[in-house]
Amino acid sequence: MNFSFKIGTIMGIPIKLHVTFLLILPVFAYVFASSPNPYGFQEVMPVTTRYTLSTLTALLLFVSILLHELAHSYLAKRYGVTIDSITLFLFGGVSSMEEMPRNPSQEAKMAFAGPFVSLVIGAICLFVYGNFLSSSAELLENPAFKVIWILGVMNVVLGIFNLLPAFPMDGGRVLRSLYARKMSYVKATQSAAAVGKFFAILMAIFGILVGNLWFPLIALFIYVGATEEERSTLASVTLETVAVRDLMTKDVVSVPPSMSVEDLVHFMFENKHMGYPVIEGGLLKGIVSFTDVRRVPPLERPVLLVRDIMTKELVSVPSSAQAHEALKFISGRNIGRVLVIDDGSLVGILSRTDLVRTLRLMSE
Ligand SMILES: [Zn+2]
Repeated sequence: MNFSFKIGTIMGIPIKLHVTFLLILPVFAYVFASSPNPYGFQEVMPVTTRYTLSTLTALLLFVSILLHELAHSYLAKRYGVTIDSITLFLFGGVSSMEEMPRNPSQEAKMAFAGPFVSLVIGAICLFVYGNFLSSSAELLENPAFKVIWILGVMNVVLGIFNLLPAFPMDGGRVLRSLYARKMSYVKATQSAAAVGKFFAILMAIFGILVGNLWFPLIALFIYVGATEEERSTLASVTLETVAVRDLMTKDVVSVPPSMSVEDLVHFMFENKHMGYPVIEGGLLKGIVSFTDVRRVPPLERPVLLVRDIMTKELVSVPSSAQAHEALKFISGRNIGRVLVIDDGSLVGILSRTDLVRTLRLMSE
Protein backbone atom coordinates (compact mmCIF):
# COMPACT_ATOMS: atom_id res chain seq x y z
CA MET A 1 0.00 0.00 0.00
CA ASN A 2 1.22 3.42 -0.92
CA PHE A 3 0.17 6.12 1.53
CA SER A 4 1.57 9.08 -0.31
CA PHE A 5 0.63 10.99 -3.44
CA LYS A 6 2.54 13.27 -5.75
CA ILE A 7 1.86 17.02 -5.70
CA GLY A 8 4.50 18.23 -8.13
CA THR A 9 8.08 18.09 -9.37
CA ILE A 10 10.98 20.37 -8.40
CA MET A 11 14.50 20.04 -9.91
CA GLY A 12 13.26 16.84 -11.56
CA ILE A 13 12.41 15.32 -8.15
CA PRO A 14 8.84 14.15 -7.48
CA ILE A 15 7.46 15.84 -4.34
CA LYS A 16 4.99 13.67 -2.42
CA LEU A 17 2.62 14.16 0.49
CA HIS A 18 2.13 11.34 2.97
CA VAL A 19 -1.36 10.90 4.47
CA THR A 20 0.07 11.53 7.96
CA PHE A 21 0.99 15.00 6.71
CA LEU A 22 -2.67 15.75 5.96
CA LEU A 23 -3.52 14.69 9.52
CA ILE A 24 -0.80 16.75 11.18
CA LEU A 25 -1.38 19.97 9.24
CA PRO A 26 -4.73 20.79 10.97
CA VAL A 27 -3.14 19.82 14.31
CA PHE A 28 -0.35 22.35 13.75
CA ALA A 29 -2.86 24.98 12.65
CA TYR A 30 -4.89 24.29 15.80
CA VAL A 31 -1.80 24.53 18.06
CA PHE A 32 -0.84 27.89 16.51
CA ALA A 33 -4.43 29.14 16.79
CA SER A 34 -4.75 28.23 20.46
CA SER A 35 -1.26 29.16 21.72
CA PRO A 36 -0.90 32.53 23.44
CA ASN A 37 1.40 35.31 22.29
CA PRO A 38 4.21 35.23 21.10
CA TYR A 39 4.00 31.65 19.74
CA GLY A 40 0.39 31.66 18.63
CA PHE A 41 -2.66 33.69 17.68
CA GLN A 42 -4.88 33.02 20.68
CA GLU A 43 -5.71 36.72 21.21
CA VAL A 44 -6.47 37.46 17.56
CA MET A 45 -10.10 38.25 16.76
CA PRO A 46 -12.25 37.39 14.82
CA VAL A 47 -11.89 33.61 14.85
CA THR A 48 -11.70 33.37 11.03
CA THR A 49 -8.64 35.67 10.98
CA ARG A 50 -7.09 33.61 13.77
CA TYR A 51 -7.49 30.33 11.88
CA THR A 52 -6.45 31.82 8.53
CA LEU A 53 -3.19 33.05 10.07
CA SER A 54 -2.47 29.82 11.92
CA THR A 55 -3.16 27.70 8.82
CA LEU A 56 -0.89 29.98 6.79
CA THR A 57 1.85 29.56 9.42
CA ALA A 58 1.51 25.77 9.36
CA LEU A 59 1.68 25.70 5.54
CA LEU A 60 4.74 27.98 5.44
CA LEU A 61 6.40 25.81 8.08
CA PHE A 62 6.05 22.80 5.79
CA VAL A 63 7.33 24.85 2.85
CA SER A 64 10.41 25.52 5.03
CA ILE A 65 10.79 21.78 5.64
CA LEU A 66 10.53 21.15 1.90
CA LEU A 67 13.28 23.75 1.27
CA HIS A 68 15.43 21.97 3.89
CA GLU A 69 14.98 18.67 2.02
CA LEU A 70 15.59 20.31 -1.36
CA ALA A 71 18.93 21.62 -0.06
CA HIS A 72 20.02 18.02 0.74
CA SER A 73 18.76 16.83 -2.64
CA TYR A 74 20.42 19.64 -4.60
CA LEU A 75 23.89 18.72 -3.30
CA ALA A 76 23.17 14.99 -3.55
CA LYS A 77 22.32 15.41 -7.24
CA ARG A 78 25.51 17.39 -7.76
CA TYR A 79 27.47 14.50 -6.28
CA GLY A 80 25.78 12.07 -8.63
CA VAL A 81 23.31 10.49 -6.19
CA THR A 82 19.89 9.68 -7.67
CA ILE A 83 16.97 11.13 -5.69
CA ASP A 84 13.83 9.05 -6.15
CA SER A 85 11.48 11.44 -4.36
CA ILE A 86 10.94 13.78 -1.43
CA THR A 87 8.04 12.86 0.87
CA LEU A 88 6.55 15.22 3.43
CA PHE A 89 5.17 13.24 6.35
CA LEU A 90 4.18 13.54 10.00
CA PHE A 91 7.34 15.04 11.51
CA GLY A 92 9.01 16.55 8.49
CA GLY A 93 10.46 15.52 5.20
CA VAL A 94 12.41 12.58 3.91
CA SER A 95 14.52 12.49 0.76
CA SER A 96 14.58 9.01 -0.63
CA MET A 97 17.87 8.47 -2.39
CA GLU A 98 19.60 5.46 -3.83
CA GLU A 99 22.61 5.71 -1.59
CA MET A 100 24.55 8.19 0.50
CA PRO A 101 27.81 9.39 -0.99
CA ARG A 102 30.69 7.53 0.70
CA ASN A 103 33.07 10.42 0.26
CA PRO A 104 33.27 11.96 3.79
CA SER A 105 33.49 15.60 2.70
CA GLN A 106 30.58 15.18 0.24
CA GLU A 107 28.46 13.46 2.88
CA ALA A 108 29.26 16.20 5.39
CA LYS A 109 28.30 19.01 3.00
CA MET A 110 25.15 17.21 1.92
CA ALA A 111 24.05 16.55 5.50
CA PHE A 112 24.85 20.10 6.59
CA ALA A 113 22.98 21.74 3.68
CA GLY A 114 19.51 21.06 5.17
CA PRO A 115 20.03 22.50 8.67
CA PHE A 116 21.98 25.37 7.06
CA VAL A 117 18.95 26.33 4.94
CA SER A 118 16.67 26.09 8.02
CA LEU A 119 19.00 28.36 10.00
CA VAL A 120 19.21 30.87 7.12
CA ILE A 121 15.40 31.01 6.73
CA GLY A 122 15.10 31.39 10.52
CA ALA A 123 17.72 34.15 10.65
CA ILE A 124 16.13 36.10 7.77
CA CYS A 125 12.66 35.91 9.37
CA LEU A 126 13.91 36.99 12.79
CA PHE A 127 16.03 39.76 11.27
CA VAL A 128 13.09 41.13 9.25
CA TYR A 129 10.84 40.96 12.30
CA GLY A 130 13.40 42.44 14.67
CA ASN A 131 14.69 45.26 12.47
CA PHE A 132 11.97 46.40 10.11
CA LEU A 133 8.74 45.53 11.83
CA SER A 134 9.67 46.36 15.41
CA SER A 135 10.61 49.92 14.36
CA SER A 136 6.95 50.75 13.93
CA ALA A 137 4.41 50.10 16.65
CA GLU A 138 1.64 50.13 14.04
CA LEU A 139 3.23 47.25 12.12
CA LEU A 140 3.81 45.26 15.29
CA GLU A 141 0.14 45.58 16.14
CA ASN A 142 -0.72 43.70 12.98
CA PRO A 143 -1.01 40.00 13.87
CA ALA A 144 -0.12 38.99 10.29
CA PHE A 145 3.52 39.80 11.01
CA LYS A 146 3.65 37.34 13.86
CA VAL A 147 3.65 34.66 11.14
CA ILE A 148 7.19 35.81 10.31
CA TRP A 149 8.29 35.68 13.95
CA ILE A 150 6.91 32.15 14.52
CA LEU A 151 8.43 30.88 11.27
CA GLY A 152 11.77 32.37 12.30
CA VAL A 153 11.75 30.63 15.69
CA MET A 154 10.54 27.30 14.26
CA ASN A 155 13.22 27.25 11.56
CA VAL A 156 16.00 28.02 14.05
CA VAL A 157 14.74 25.19 16.29
CA LEU A 158 14.51 22.86 13.25
CA GLY A 159 18.07 23.73 12.21
CA ILE A 160 19.52 23.16 15.69
CA PHE A 161 17.52 19.96 16.30
CA ASN A 162 18.77 18.48 13.03
CA LEU A 163 22.36 19.30 13.94
CA LEU A 164 22.21 17.10 17.08
CA PRO A 165 25.13 14.69 16.63
CA ALA A 166 22.90 11.61 16.49
CA PHE A 167 21.47 9.39 13.75
CA PRO A 168 18.99 9.68 12.10
CA MET A 169 19.45 13.46 12.32
CA ASP A 170 21.63 15.27 9.81
CA GLY A 171 24.15 15.96 12.60
CA GLY A 172 24.71 12.18 12.90
CA ARG A 173 25.86 12.10 9.28
CA VAL A 174 28.14 15.09 9.78
CA LEU A 175 29.64 13.26 12.77
CA ARG A 176 30.12 10.04 10.77
CA SER A 177 31.95 11.91 8.02
CA LEU A 178 34.29 13.43 10.64
CA TYR A 179 35.03 9.93 12.00
CA ALA A 180 35.40 8.57 8.45
CA ARG A 181 38.42 10.77 7.85
CA LYS A 182 40.30 8.76 10.45
CA MET A 183 38.81 5.24 10.18
CA SER A 184 36.88 2.90 7.89
CA TYR A 185 33.32 3.75 6.91
CA VAL A 186 31.94 0.84 8.96
CA LYS A 187 33.90 1.86 12.08
CA ALA A 188 32.84 5.47 11.56
CA THR A 189 29.18 4.43 11.34
CA GLN A 190 29.50 2.35 14.51
CA SER A 191 31.17 5.21 16.38
CA ALA A 192 28.59 7.78 15.24
CA ALA A 193 25.75 5.37 16.12
CA ALA A 194 27.27 4.83 19.58
CA VAL A 195 27.34 8.60 20.18
CA GLY A 196 23.72 8.82 19.00
CA LYS A 197 22.59 6.06 21.38
CA PHE A 198 24.48 7.59 24.31
CA PHE A 199 22.88 10.93 23.50
CA ALA A 200 19.43 9.30 23.34
CA ILE A 201 19.89 7.69 26.77
CA LEU A 202 20.98 11.03 28.30
CA MET A 203 17.98 12.72 26.70
CA ALA A 204 15.55 10.09 28.04
CA ILE A 205 16.98 10.37 31.58
CA PHE A 206 16.79 14.17 31.41
CA GLY A 207 13.17 14.00 30.26
CA ILE A 208 12.18 11.65 33.07
CA LEU A 209 13.95 13.83 35.66
CA VAL A 210 12.20 17.03 34.53
CA GLY A 211 8.92 15.19 33.99
CA ASN A 212 8.58 16.01 30.29
CA LEU A 213 7.60 12.92 28.28
CA TRP A 214 8.50 14.48 24.90
CA PHE A 215 12.19 13.89 25.63
CA PRO A 216 11.99 10.09 26.14
CA LEU A 217 9.82 9.89 23.00
CA ILE A 218 12.33 11.78 20.84
CA ALA A 219 15.11 9.75 22.50
CA LEU A 220 13.43 6.51 21.44
CA PHE A 221 13.16 7.84 17.88
CA ILE A 222 16.90 8.67 17.92
CA TYR A 223 17.87 5.31 19.45
CA VAL A 224 15.91 3.31 16.86
CA GLY A 225 17.24 5.50 14.04
CA ALA A 226 20.86 5.04 15.15
CA THR A 227 20.45 1.25 15.40
CA GLU A 228 18.77 1.07 11.98
CA GLU A 229 21.45 3.19 10.27
CA GLU A 230 24.20 1.03 11.80
CA ARG A 231 22.50 -2.20 10.68
CA SER A 232 21.81 -1.12 7.09
CA THR A 233 25.29 0.36 6.59
CA LEU A 234 26.93 -2.82 7.90
CA ALA A 235 24.77 -4.91 5.56
CA SER A 236 25.55 -2.92 2.44
CA VAL A 237 29.28 -2.51 3.16
CA THR A 238 29.72 -6.21 4.05
CA LEU A 239 27.91 -7.43 0.95
CA GLU A 240 29.75 -5.00 -1.33
CA THR A 241 32.78 -7.26 -1.48
CA VAL A 242 30.75 -10.30 -2.56
CA ALA A 243 29.30 -11.05 -6.01
CA VAL A 244 25.93 -12.72 -6.57
CA ARG A 245 27.68 -15.69 -8.24
CA ASP A 246 29.53 -16.49 -4.98
CA LEU A 247 26.32 -16.83 -2.99
CA MET A 248 23.73 -18.17 -5.41
CA THR A 249 22.52 -21.77 -5.52
CA LYS A 250 23.92 -23.07 -8.80
CA ASP A 251 22.22 -26.45 -9.25
CA VAL A 252 18.73 -25.05 -9.52
CA VAL A 253 15.86 -27.43 -8.85
CA SER A 254 12.93 -26.55 -11.09
CA VAL A 255 9.31 -27.71 -11.41
CA PRO A 256 7.09 -28.14 -14.52
CA PRO A 257 4.03 -25.87 -14.98
CA SER A 258 1.80 -28.95 -15.21
CA MET A 259 2.57 -30.11 -11.65
CA SER A 260 -0.42 -29.88 -9.28
CA VAL A 261 -0.19 -27.55 -6.29
CA GLU A 262 -0.72 -30.57 -4.02
CA ASP A 263 2.37 -32.28 -5.51
CA LEU A 264 4.29 -29.01 -5.28
CA VAL A 265 3.70 -28.87 -1.51
CA HIS A 266 5.16 -32.40 -1.12
CA PHE A 267 8.02 -31.44 -3.43
CA MET A 268 8.81 -28.38 -1.28
CA PHE A 269 8.95 -30.47 1.89
CA GLU A 270 11.30 -32.99 0.26
CA ASN A 271 13.63 -30.44 -1.32
CA LYS A 272 13.62 -27.93 1.56
CA HIS A 273 13.54 -24.87 -0.75
CA MET A 274 10.72 -22.33 -0.52
CA GLY A 275 10.80 -21.19 -4.16
CA TYR A 276 11.38 -22.80 -7.58
CA PRO A 277 11.72 -21.61 -11.18
CA VAL A 278 9.04 -23.09 -13.44
CA ILE A 279 10.60 -24.61 -16.57
CA GLU A 280 8.95 -26.26 -19.56
CA GLY A 281 10.84 -27.56 -22.60
CA GLY A 282 14.00 -25.80 -21.44
CA LEU A 283 12.20 -22.44 -21.28
CA LEU A 284 11.71 -20.38 -18.12
CA LYS A 285 7.98 -19.77 -17.62
CA GLY A 286 7.81 -18.25 -14.16
CA ILE A 287 8.65 -18.68 -10.51
CA VAL A 288 6.58 -20.29 -7.78
CA SER A 289 7.06 -19.91 -4.03
CA PHE A 290 5.51 -20.99 -0.76
CA THR A 291 3.79 -17.58 -0.59
CA ASP A 292 1.90 -18.44 -3.82
CA VAL A 293 0.93 -21.85 -2.39
CA ARG A 294 -0.36 -20.37 0.86
CA ARG A 295 -2.95 -18.31 -1.05
CA VAL A 296 -4.58 -21.52 -2.33
CA PRO A 297 -7.14 -23.10 0.04
CA PRO A 298 -6.14 -26.76 0.82
CA LEU A 299 -9.25 -28.13 -0.93
CA GLU A 300 -8.26 -26.54 -4.24
CA ARG A 301 -4.65 -27.74 -4.13
CA PRO A 302 -5.21 -31.07 -5.97
CA VAL A 303 -7.06 -29.37 -8.87
CA LEU A 304 -4.95 -26.25 -9.39
CA LEU A 305 -1.66 -26.44 -11.29
CA VAL A 306 1.64 -24.65 -10.82
CA ARG A 307 0.95 -22.59 -13.99
CA ASP A 308 -2.24 -21.20 -12.39
CA ILE A 309 -0.52 -19.81 -9.32
CA MET A 310 3.04 -19.03 -10.46
CA THR A 311 4.40 -15.48 -10.79
CA LYS A 312 4.90 -14.84 -14.51
CA GLU A 313 6.61 -11.49 -14.15
CA LEU A 314 10.27 -12.47 -13.84
CA VAL A 315 12.74 -10.34 -11.93
CA SER A 316 16.39 -11.22 -12.22
CA VAL A 317 19.94 -10.03 -11.61
CA PRO A 318 23.14 -10.98 -13.49
CA SER A 319 25.64 -13.23 -11.66
CA SER A 320 28.24 -10.45 -11.78
CA ALA A 321 26.05 -8.07 -9.70
CA GLN A 322 27.21 -7.14 -6.20
CA ALA A 323 25.40 -8.97 -3.42
CA HIS A 324 24.32 -5.69 -1.80
CA GLU A 325 22.58 -4.68 -5.05
CA ALA A 326 20.68 -7.98 -4.92
CA LEU A 327 19.75 -7.35 -1.27
CA LYS A 328 18.40 -3.88 -2.12
CA PHE A 329 16.49 -5.42 -5.02
CA ILE A 330 14.96 -8.16 -2.86
CA SER A 331 14.07 -5.87 0.06
CA GLY A 332 12.77 -3.11 -2.24
CA ARG A 333 10.31 -5.50 -3.91
CA ASN A 334 9.69 -7.49 -0.73
CA ILE A 335 10.30 -10.81 -2.47
CA GLY A 336 11.97 -13.92 -1.09
CA ARG A 337 14.33 -14.75 -3.95
CA VAL A 338 15.61 -13.53 -7.26
CA LEU A 339 16.58 -15.49 -10.38
CA VAL A 340 20.14 -15.12 -11.61
CA ILE A 341 20.12 -14.86 -15.40
CA ASP A 342 23.17 -14.38 -17.67
CA ASP A 343 22.58 -13.77 -21.41
CA GLY A 344 19.02 -15.07 -21.21
CA SER A 345 19.80 -18.34 -19.48
CA LEU A 346 19.10 -19.25 -15.88
CA VAL A 347 22.37 -19.85 -14.01
CA GLY A 348 21.21 -19.77 -10.41
CA ILE A 349 18.81 -18.58 -7.74
CA LEU A 350 19.58 -16.27 -4.81
CA SER A 351 17.33 -16.13 -1.77
CA ARG A 352 16.99 -13.63 1.05
CA THR A 353 18.04 -16.46 3.39
CA ASP A 354 21.33 -16.88 1.46
CA LEU A 355 22.06 -13.17 1.92
CA VAL A 356 21.14 -13.08 5.59
CA ARG A 357 23.25 -16.17 6.31
CA THR A 358 26.24 -14.60 4.56
CA LEU A 359 25.81 -11.38 6.52
CA ARG A 360 25.74 -13.31 9.78
CA LEU A 361 28.87 -15.29 8.88
CA MET A 362 30.81 -12.28 7.67
CA SER A 363 30.01 -10.02 10.61
CA GLU A 364 31.30 -12.52 13.15
ZN1 LIG B 1 17.81 17.19 6.98
